[in-house]
Amino acid sequence: KILLEVKDLSAVIAKDKTQILKGVSLSICEGEVHVVMGKNGSGKSTFAKVLVGHPDYEVTGGSIVFKGENVLDMEPEERSLAGLFMSFQSPIEIPGVSNIDFLQMAYNARRRKLGQPELSPIEFYGYISPKLELVNMKVDFLNRNVNEGFSGGEKKRNEIFQLAVLGADLAILDEIDSGLDVDALRDVAKAVNAILTPKNSVLVITHYQRLLEYIKPTYVHIMEEGRIKDITQHKTAGHSKSANDSISNGGKTYRA
Ligand code: ADP
Ligand code: MG
Ligand code: MG
Repeated sequence: KILLEVKDLSAVIAKDKTQILKGVSLSICEGEVHVVMGKNGSGKSTFAKVLVGHPDYEVTGGSIVFKGENVLDMEPEERSLAGLFMSFQSPIEIPGVSNIDFLQMAYNARRRKLGQPELSPIEFYGYISPKLELVNMKVDFLNRNVNEGFSGGEKKRNEIFQLAVLGADLAILDEIDSGLDVDALRDVAKAVNAILTPKNSVLVITHYQRLLEYIKPTYVHIMEEGRIKDITQHKTAGHSKSANDSISNGGKTYRA
């Protein structure tokens, strides 16, 4: 079942109308892991930000349909409530707001939207504390202000922690692996794998082949000058071992 369908998407930088995306097409089905790679400056982050409705960009053509709905008609908050999650390459700091308060606010907003009762602080603590293990963080992490004074690795872990807590049908992870040492990379990848189900999907943006040793892609796309040039289709769909094997063996078959 198709989760996200992007067709011939074009976008410009809002302030000076420079065209960055020049006709991007991509379809993601439930349960798939898509990886977008490509040179610095090729438009990967712009693509991710346009998907979630970042105000720095204007869409000038094409379509984005998520779960059958036209995303281009939706505000960023609505997209997030609809189940689209994005971790940013440079996560923002929110001074004066603790991680746990921030997450409880965001989580309860989603529950309200779904018509479910909000969780009390104690219930919420019970819900999130087991998830700390996923990203190998200690409890005091919850009381620190969002991303304030976090190391690069802690910020990345925190992004994945937010994803694990909030849940998403499609998680877009932009350079979740950059600047991480091997241990942090393994923790982050482990957490990403742990949140995958047959129903949800992940779009991973990365510079580095090494992430693919830990996260098994269904498809690898190469972005070049604002377009997706080619797609590497792996032998096995889904989160299987052999999909990864075909990468490390360099066994690539190109489609379209
Ligand atoms: P990537 O993530 O593949 O490295 P980006 O999407 O970040 O690429 O950027 C693509 C190009 O668009 C780069 O040349 C970048 O400098 C430019 N660009 C993207 N966003 C902005 C912006 N808000 N203002 C100015 N230039 C931008
Ligand atoms: Mg870049
Ligand atoms: Mg980028």
